[in-house]
Amino acid sequence: MKSIQELTRKNILELTAYSCARDEYKGKEAHVFLDANESPYNKPFNRYPDPLQQSLKKEIAKVKGVKEECIFLGNGSDEAIDLVYRCFTEPGTDNVVAIEPTYGMYSVCAQINDIEYRRVLLDNHFDITADKLTAACDEHTKVIWLCSPNNPTGNLLNREEIVKLLQSFEGLVVVDEAYSDFSKARPFRLDLHTYPNLIVLNTMSKAWGCAALRLGMAFAQKAIIDTFNKVKYPYNINELTQRQALEIIKDPFEVDKWVRTILLERSRLAEAIHMLPICNKVYPTDANFILAEMTDAEGIYNYLMQKGIIVRNRSRVSLCHNCLRITVGTKTENNELLAALRHL
Ligand SMILES: *Cc1c(COP(=O)(O)O)cnc(C)c1O
Repeated sequence: MKSIQELTRKNILELTAYSCARDEYKGKEAHVFLDANESPYNKPFNRYPDPLQQSLKKEIAKVKGVKEECIFLGNGSDEAIDLVYRCFTEPGTDNVVAIEPTYGMYSVCAQINDIEYRRVLLDNHFDITADKLTAACDEHTKVIWLCSPNNPTGNLLNREEIVKLLQSFEGLVVVDEAYSDFSKARPFRLDLHTYPNLIVLNTMSKAWGCAALRLGMAFAQKAIIDTFNKVKYPYNINELTQRQALEIIKDPFEVDKWVRTILLERSRLAEAIHMLPICNKVYPTDANFILAEMTDAEGIYNYLMQKGIIVRNRSRVSLCHNCLRITVGTKTENNELLAALRHL
């Protein structure tokens, strides 16, 4: 691969990061803070939060099995997605390659950053081959976007093909593992040391039950993380989010319990939907949602909406004709959905 320096945008390489008041004193014990024009009142929210979220990263490092220096925390995964473009792609010149269909933010951020976005259609098992993705790349391709388990299809991508890309592609490979907690497959974040061009995305929005906090994670080698940290807003993770995230992370057994319950409900729901005469096919899933091909997705979507039950209509997405994406809820919620569907 190319070196991280070679892949970094020239203006970013030359950038000196904003230096905030708290960065400049370091090490010494201090108790009178008159350096940042904060108010001395309204504790603890009078103080700026830690710009590098060190206590939180320490806990995340333990839970995720990744070194602290290899962790970036963002305002949702969406911040990390945008930073990949802002740090490593040249507007108007570079391009990225992505699987299709997948999560919408990769293409939205490409457009915002004026980067050509090349879609490579998944095969009829919603899977990839390294060859097909490589064929879409040229000398201006900086990033390949992968998502596994993929949204909205729910399946894992073929691991060997991802590894081939990591070994052969000159640029960065992003593997979005937002749903890896719902899968038994080995997460790619544990192989960071093997692949210097790998960026793995995780989030607290799904298995961890904290979508409201807006906390996303990127795992990568230190050179990539340092670049993200240089470009991000200095105080991108607010104090309330840092505190609340620490609370949740200290009780991972509670999260494990949620995940186990969701997995049980996922099988039950998949089986029950599969039995419905209005369902053509339930696709295999490694995530906390089910993609189902229906006889009339649009009609069923509207019918459910009338009943106050909202699912995601994916029928206009490539390869997902007549498909609904249904998130696994509580047993009560799933039963309400099933009752409504059986009534049709
Ligand atoms: C839900 C989801 C995310 C989460 O985004 P946040 O900004 O962290 O809430 C990221 N990637 C994929 C593929 C998702 O489905």
